[in-house]
Amino acid sequence: MNVVLLGAPGAGKGTQSSKICEKLGICHISTGDIFRKHIAEKTPLGIVAKTYIDKGQLVPDEVTVDIVKERISKDDCKNGYLLDGFPRTVAQAEALEDFCIIDRVIDIDVPFELLLHRLTGRRVCPNCGASYHVDFYNDKNCSSCGETLIQRDDDNEETVGLRLNVYKRQTAPLIKYYKKAGVLVTVDGSKDSEDVFSDIVEALK
Ligand code: ADP
Ligand code: AMP
Repeated sequence: MNVVLLGAPGAGKGTQSSKICEKLGICHISTGDIFRKHIAEKTPLGIVAKTYIDKGQLVPDEVTVDIVKERISKDDCKNGYLLDGFPRTVAQAEALEDFCIIDRVIDIDVPFELLLHRLTGRRVCPNCGASYHVDFYNDKNCSSCGETLIQRDDDNEETVGLRLNVYKRQTAPLIKYYKKAGVLVTVDGSKDSEDVFSDIVEALK
Protein backbone atom coordinates (compact mmCIF):
# COMPACT_ATOMS: atom_id res chain seq x y z
CA MET A 1 0.00 0.00 0.00
CA ASN A 2 1.27 3.47 -0.91
CA VAL A 3 0.06 6.28 1.34
CA VAL A 4 0.52 10.06 1.35
CA LEU A 5 0.31 11.87 4.67
CA LEU A 6 -0.84 15.42 4.11
CA GLY A 7 -1.12 18.19 6.68
CA ALA A 8 0.36 21.53 7.70
CA PRO A 9 3.72 21.71 9.48
CA GLY A 10 3.00 20.59 13.06
CA ALA A 11 -0.15 18.63 12.16
CA GLY A 12 1.39 15.43 13.54
CA LYS A 13 2.64 13.70 10.37
CA GLY A 14 5.97 12.61 11.86
CA THR A 15 4.31 11.50 15.11
CA GLN A 16 1.83 9.26 13.27
CA SER A 17 4.20 8.04 10.53
CA SER A 18 6.28 5.60 12.57
CA LYS A 19 3.16 4.02 14.08
CA ILE A 20 1.43 3.67 10.71
CA CYS A 21 4.53 2.19 9.07
CA GLU A 22 4.99 -0.30 11.89
CA LYS A 23 1.35 -1.38 11.64
CA LEU A 24 1.30 -1.72 7.85
CA GLY A 25 4.88 -2.95 7.42
CA ILE A 26 5.66 -0.18 4.95
CA CYS A 27 8.61 2.17 4.57
CA HIS A 28 8.60 5.74 6.00
CA ILE A 29 9.87 8.40 3.60
CA SER A 30 10.11 11.94 4.98
CA THR A 31 11.59 14.44 2.54
CA GLY A 32 12.28 16.79 5.49
CA ASP A 33 14.32 14.03 7.22
CA ILE A 34 16.22 13.33 3.99
CA PHE A 35 17.13 17.03 3.61
CA ARG A 36 18.18 17.29 7.28
CA LYS A 37 20.47 14.28 6.86
CA HIS A 38 22.12 15.91 3.83
CA ILE A 39 22.48 19.18 5.77
CA ALA A 40 24.12 17.38 8.71
CA GLU A 41 26.53 15.65 6.31
CA LYS A 42 27.16 18.93 4.44
CA THR A 43 26.57 17.30 1.03
CA PRO A 44 26.12 19.60 -2.03
CA LEU A 45 22.37 18.87 -1.90
CA GLY A 46 22.32 19.69 1.83
CA ILE A 47 24.05 23.03 1.25
CA VAL A 48 21.47 24.01 -1.39
CA ALA A 49 18.48 22.69 0.61
CA LYS A 50 19.55 24.62 3.72
CA THR A 51 19.27 27.96 1.92
CA TYR A 52 15.55 27.30 1.33
CA ILE A 53 14.74 25.55 4.62
CA ASP A 54 16.27 28.36 6.72
CA LYS A 55 13.96 30.84 4.98
CA GLY A 56 10.88 28.64 5.49
CA GLN A 57 10.61 28.09 1.73
CA LEU A 58 10.16 24.87 -0.21
CA VAL A 59 13.15 23.22 -1.85
CA PRO A 60 12.60 23.37 -5.67
CA ASP A 61 10.30 20.71 -7.12
CA GLU A 62 12.88 19.17 -9.52
CA VAL A 63 15.31 18.47 -6.68
CA THR A 64 12.66 17.05 -4.37
CA VAL A 65 10.94 14.87 -6.97
CA ASP A 66 14.25 13.25 -8.00
CA ILE A 67 15.03 12.38 -4.39
CA VAL A 68 11.67 10.67 -3.88
CA LYS A 69 11.88 8.84 -7.19
CA GLU A 70 15.27 7.43 -6.27
CA ARG A 71 14.21 6.55 -2.70
CA ILE A 72 11.07 4.59 -3.62
CA SER A 73 13.04 2.47 -6.10
CA LYS A 74 14.94 0.89 -3.18
CA ASP A 75 14.24 -2.68 -2.03
CA ASP A 76 12.77 -1.70 1.34
CA CYS A 77 9.91 0.06 -0.47
CA LYS A 78 8.72 -3.11 -2.25
CA ASN A 79 5.82 -3.64 0.23
CA GLY A 80 4.75 -0.03 -0.02
CA TYR A 81 5.64 3.30 1.54
CA LEU A 82 4.29 6.26 3.39
CA LEU A 83 5.21 9.67 2.00
CA ASP A 84 5.46 12.22 4.83
CA GLY A 85 5.79 15.82 3.66
CA PHE A 86 5.70 14.93 -0.04
CA PRO A 87 4.07 16.04 -2.31
CA ARG A 88 3.90 19.65 -1.13
CA THR A 89 2.91 21.32 -4.41
CA VAL A 90 0.51 20.39 -7.20
CA ALA A 91 3.53 20.12 -9.55
CA GLN A 92 5.09 17.51 -7.22
CA ALA A 93 1.79 15.57 -7.09
CA GLU A 94 1.59 15.55 -10.88
CA ALA A 95 5.20 14.39 -11.17
CA LEU A 96 4.56 11.63 -8.62
CA GLU A 97 1.79 10.21 -10.79
CA ASP A 98 4.35 9.40 -13.47
CA PHE A 99 6.19 6.89 -11.30
CA CYS A 100 3.82 5.68 -8.58
CA ILE A 101 0.22 4.84 -7.74
CA ILE A 102 -1.10 6.36 -4.52
CA ASP A 103 -3.76 4.21 -2.80
CA ARG A 104 -4.79 6.62 -0.06
CA VAL A 105 -4.11 10.19 1.05
CA ILE A 106 -4.68 11.01 4.71
CA ASP A 107 -5.06 14.70 5.49
CA ILE A 108 -4.39 15.47 9.16
CA ASP A 109 -6.44 18.56 9.79
CA VAL A 110 -5.45 20.88 12.66
CA PRO A 111 -6.73 24.44 13.27
CA PHE A 112 -4.06 27.01 12.43
CA GLU A 113 -4.03 28.57 15.91
CA LEU A 114 -2.76 25.25 17.37
CA LEU A 115 0.12 24.82 14.92
CA LEU A 116 2.35 27.66 16.12
CA HIS A 117 2.26 26.29 19.69
CA ARG A 118 2.94 22.74 18.52
CA LEU A 119 5.94 23.75 16.40
CA THR A 120 7.64 26.18 18.79
CA GLY A 121 7.32 23.59 21.60
CA ARG A 122 8.54 20.68 19.48
CA ARG A 123 11.76 18.90 20.42
CA VAL A 124 13.19 16.23 18.12
CA CYS A 125 15.70 13.44 18.30
CA PRO A 126 18.53 14.08 15.79
CA ASN A 127 19.32 10.36 15.81
CA CYS A 128 16.00 8.52 15.31
CA GLY A 129 13.73 11.44 14.36
CA ALA A 130 11.24 10.96 17.23
CA SER A 131 9.16 14.06 17.94
CA TYR A 132 8.12 15.35 21.38
CA HIS A 133 6.41 18.41 22.84
CA VAL A 134 7.58 20.30 25.93
CA ASP A 135 3.97 20.24 27.23
CA PHE A 136 4.01 16.43 27.49
CA TYR A 137 7.69 15.44 27.78
CA ASN A 138 10.23 17.07 30.11
CA ASP A 139 13.21 14.77 29.65
CA LYS A 140 16.23 16.11 27.77
CA ASN A 141 16.87 12.71 26.12
CA CYS A 142 14.98 10.62 23.57
CA SER A 143 12.89 7.87 25.19
CA SER A 144 13.63 5.50 22.27
CA CYS A 145 17.38 5.87 21.73
CA GLY A 146 18.65 8.10 24.57
CA GLU A 147 20.11 10.83 22.30
CA THR A 148 19.93 14.47 23.51
CA LEU A 149 16.85 16.18 22.05
CA ILE A 150 17.20 19.39 20.03
CA GLN A 151 14.99 22.16 18.75
CA ARG A 152 14.93 22.36 14.95
CA ASP A 153 16.45 25.59 13.53
CA ASP A 154 13.25 26.22 11.53
CA ASP A 155 10.96 25.83 14.58
CA ASN A 156 11.49 29.44 15.72
CA GLU A 157 8.43 31.70 15.68
CA GLU A 158 9.47 33.76 12.64
CA THR A 159 10.28 30.80 10.36
CA VAL A 160 7.18 28.91 11.53
CA GLY A 161 5.05 31.89 10.39
CA LEU A 162 6.70 31.76 6.96
CA ARG A 163 6.25 27.96 6.71
CA LEU A 164 2.56 28.18 7.56
CA ASN A 165 2.06 30.80 4.83
CA VAL A 166 3.88 28.57 2.35
CA TYR A 167 1.61 25.69 3.40
CA LYS A 168 -1.54 27.78 2.80
CA ARG A 169 -0.37 29.01 -0.57
CA GLN A 170 1.43 26.01 -2.06
CA THR A 171 0.38 22.83 -0.22
CA ALA A 172 -3.26 23.30 0.87
CA PRO A 173 -4.45 23.16 -2.80
CA LEU A 174 -3.49 19.46 -2.71
CA ILE A 175 -6.55 18.78 -0.53
CA LYS A 176 -8.82 19.68 -3.43
CA TYR A 177 -6.51 17.87 -5.87
CA TYR A 178 -6.71 14.55 -4.00
CA LYS A 179 -10.39 14.95 -3.13
CA LYS A 180 -11.07 15.18 -6.86
CA ALA A 181 -8.97 12.04 -7.41
CA GLY A 182 -11.22 10.22 -4.86
CA VAL A 183 -8.40 9.04 -2.57
CA LEU A 184 -8.56 11.62 0.24
CA VAL A 185 -9.67 10.95 3.83
CA THR A 186 -9.52 13.78 6.39
CA VAL A 187 -8.89 13.05 10.07
CA ASP A 188 -9.20 15.47 12.99
CA GLY A 189 -5.60 16.05 14.12
CA SER A 190 -6.57 18.17 17.11
CA LYS A 191 -7.55 15.02 19.04
CA ASP A 192 -4.95 13.35 21.20
CA SER A 193 -2.31 11.34 19.41
CA GLU A 194 -3.77 7.87 20.17
CA ASP A 195 -7.20 8.88 18.86
CA VAL A 196 -5.70 10.38 15.71
CA PHE A 197 -3.88 7.09 15.14
CA SER A 198 -7.12 5.04 15.56
CA ASP A 199 -8.89 7.32 13.06
CA ILE A 200 -6.04 6.87 10.56
CA VAL A 201 -6.10 3.08 10.95
CA GLU A 202 -9.85 3.18 10.29
CA ALA A 203 -9.30 5.40 7.24
CA LEU A 204 -6.77 2.95 5.82
CA LYS A 205 -9.10 -0.07 5.97
P1 ADP B 1 4.72 17.33 11.52
O1 ADP B 1 5.58 16.13 11.23
O2 ADP B 1 3.38 17.26 10.85
O3 ADP B 1 5.40 18.64 11.27
P2 ADP B 1 5.00 16.45 14.30
O4 ADP B 1 4.54 15.02 14.25
O5 ADP B 1 6.46 16.66 14.45
O6 ADP B 1 4.40 17.30 13.08
O7 ADP B 1 4.23 17.15 15.51
C1 ADP B 1 4.44 18.53 15.82
C2 ADP B 1 4.40 18.74 17.32
O8 ADP B 1 3.09 18.48 17.81
C3 ADP B 1 5.34 17.82 18.12
O9 ADP B 1 5.83 18.55 19.21
C4 ADP B 1 4.42 16.67 18.57
O10 ADP B 1 4.88 16.09 19.77
C5 ADP B 1 3.11 17.41 18.77
N1 ADP B 1 1.92 16.59 18.46
C6 ADP B 1 1.78 15.72 17.43
N2 ADP B 1 0.54 15.17 17.43
C7 ADP B 1 -0.11 15.73 18.49
C8 ADP B 1 -1.44 15.59 19.02
N3 ADP B 1 -2.34 14.78 18.46
N4 ADP B 1 -1.77 16.32 20.10
C9 ADP B 1 -0.87 17.19 20.67
N5 ADP B 1 0.40 17.36 20.23
C10 ADP B 1 0.77 16.65 19.14
P1 AMP C 1 9.42 19.00 7.27
O1 AMP C 1 10.41 18.19 8.05
O2 AMP C 1 8.45 18.13 6.49
O3 AMP C 1 8.71 20.03 8.13
O4 AMP C 1 10.25 19.79 6.16
C1 AMP C 1 11.23 20.74 6.53
C2 AMP C 1 11.58 21.61 5.33
O5 AMP C 1 12.16 20.79 4.28
C3 AMP C 1 10.40 22.33 4.67
O6 AMP C 1 10.07 23.55 5.31
C4 AMP C 1 10.93 22.55 3.25
O7 AMP C 1 11.85 23.63 3.20
C5 AMP C 1 11.73 21.27 3.00
N1 AMP C 1 10.87 20.23 2.38
C6 AMP C 1 10.44 19.07 2.94
N2 AMP C 1 9.66 18.39 2.10
C7 AMP C 1 9.58 19.14 0.96
C8 AMP C 1 8.91 19.00 -0.28
N3 AMP C 1 8.13 17.95 -0.55
N4 AMP C 1 9.07 19.98 -1.20
C9 AMP C 1 9.85 21.05 -0.97
N5 AMP C 1 10.49 21.27 0.18
C10 AMP C 1 10.37 20.32 1.15
